[in-house]
Amino acid sequence: MNCIQAKCVVKRKQSFSLTKTNSKDTMSSQSHSERHHKPKRYPLLSFWELPEYMKDNEYILRYYRANWPFKQAFFSLFRWHNETLNVWTHFIGFLLFLALTLANLMKPRLVHLFHIFTRSFSSSADKNVSHNIKDLFQGTTILFDLKHEMPLTIELESTALVIERWPFFVFLGGSMFCLLSSSMCHLFCCHSHDLNLFLWRLDYVGIVVMIITSFFPQLYYVFLCEPHWQIIYLAGITAMGLFTVATMLSPTLSTSKYRAFRAMLFCSMGLFGIVPAIHACFVNWSNPRRNITLAYESAMALSYLTGTLFYVTRIPERWKPGWFDLAGHSHQIFHALVVVGALAHYAATLQMLEWRDSFGCHTVP
Ligand SMILES: [Zn+2]
Repeated sequence: MNCIQAKCVVKRKQSFSLTKTNSKDTMSSQSHSERHHKPKRYPLLSFWELPEYMKDNEYILRYYRANWPFKQAFFSLFRWHNETLNVWTHFIGFLLFLALTLANLMKPRLVHLFHIFTRSFSSSADKNVSHNIKDLFQGTTILFDLKHEMPLTIELESTALVIERWPFFVFLGGSMFCLLSSSMCHLFCCHSHDLNLFLWRLDYVGIVVMIITSFFPQLYYVFLCEPHWQIIYLAGITAMGLFTVATMLSPTLSTSKYRAFRAMLFCSMGLFGIVPAIHACFVNWSNPRRNITLAYESAMALSYLTGTLFYVTRIPERWKPGWFDLAGHSHQIFHALVVVGALAHYAATLQMLEWRDSFGCHTVP
C-alpha cells in the first residue's frame, strides 16, 4: 500500500460517507481532488448504509446524508436529499411568522396574514383584494394605516381597560422558535450521533413550546375579565408544558421507539385545551366573533391532528417504500400541516384581540 492509499484509508475511517462500495480508483481520484483543494461532494446513502442511530424510517430508502461536516450539512440546504423539503417547509413557515411579527410590531394595528401578500401587489389591485378580504372577515378587518401610529397597548376610554399585546407576541415567538429549531434540526441532524440526539430533543422541545405559547393569547383574552380563571389556566398549561419539556429532554424518550408516546403526550397537551375551550364558550356566548373564532380553531385542531396521524402512521411511504423518498413522505405532510394549523390559530387570535379591542369587558347584546 503506497502513501497516497494509506492516507485514503485513514480518511475513510474518519468519514462514514466513504462507503464499502468505493473502489480503489474512486479513492485515488478523491485524493487527487483533495490535493487540488476542490470541495468534496459527499454521496447520498441508502437506508442500509446508514449508521444505526439514523435508521428511523425504513420506508424511506434512499438519499440520506450521514456524518457530514457542518459546512456540507449547511450547503445541503440547496441540494436535493430526503430532508430538503423538511428543512424548507418549516424555514418558510418561520419566515412567514417573522414577517407577521415584524409587521405587528411596526404597525400595532392588527395585521391580517393576507395583507402581507396583498400589500406587495399594485395599489389598485391591493384595494380590490383588501375589500374582498374585508368581506371575508365579516367586515371587521382593520386595514393597515400607514399614517396612523398606535401604542402597543390599546386603552379603551369606555372601560379604562388596557388590552395587553404581550400574550399575542408570546404565541408568535413560540411559533418562530418551533419552526426555526425544527428546520435547523432537519438540516444538521446528519452531522454526528451526539448532535443528532441533541437536535431531536430540541425539536420536541420546540413543538411543546409552540403548543404552550399557542394557549397564551386565547386564555388571556377569553378570560380577561375573570382574572382568577386566567391565572389558573395559564399556570396549568405552563406547568404541563414544563413537565413535558423535562420528559422530552430525556435521551431515551427521544428515540424512534417512543414515537407513539411522544405523539400521545403532544395530543394530551392539545386536548388539555378542551376544558378552557368549553368554559370559554359559556363565558363568551354573546361574543359576535365566537363562531368565526371557533371555525379557525377547529381548522387548527384538524390540521394538527391530521398531521400527527401522518407522523405516527408514516403514510404514504409505508404503502410504497422508496416512492416518496424525496417528496411527499409523511414528515413533510406533517410539517406543512403544522404551518397551516399555526396560521389558523393566528387568524383565530386576531379575532379574539379585535373583539377585546372593540368591547373590552362590556357584554355584547
Ligand atoms: Zn420535523
